[in-house]
Amino acid sequence: MRNDTAIPANHTNRLIHTAFGWYAMTREQSDLGPFASQQEASLALSRHIRVYKGVNIRCDGDARHAGMSLHDTAHCNKSNCALCAEAYILNQSRIA
Ligand SMILES: [Zn+2]
Repeated sequence: MRNDTAIPANHTNRLIHTAFGWYAMTREQSDLGPFASQQEASLALSRHIRVYKGVNIRCDGDARHAGMSLHDTAHCNKSNCALCAEAYILNQSRIA
């Protein structure tokens, strides 16, 4: 059996699933998504990395991805942020 849906290992920690759909987290101003499937998000991330290759200095820190509960949505300046979307959903479900 072929495995066409394999997600690259280096993508898995950058793809997150929210109630809105799948997001691909980027180091740029805007995350990618939401997408209907993890595979779509992965493909979008692949395209994104190709476009931005060489633009960014590689950073292995990425501390903001350490835990979603630590994400500071009040001071986040991304225009489309997967972690803010997730935090928003968590807040909604807490109220409900
Ligand atoms: Zn954010």
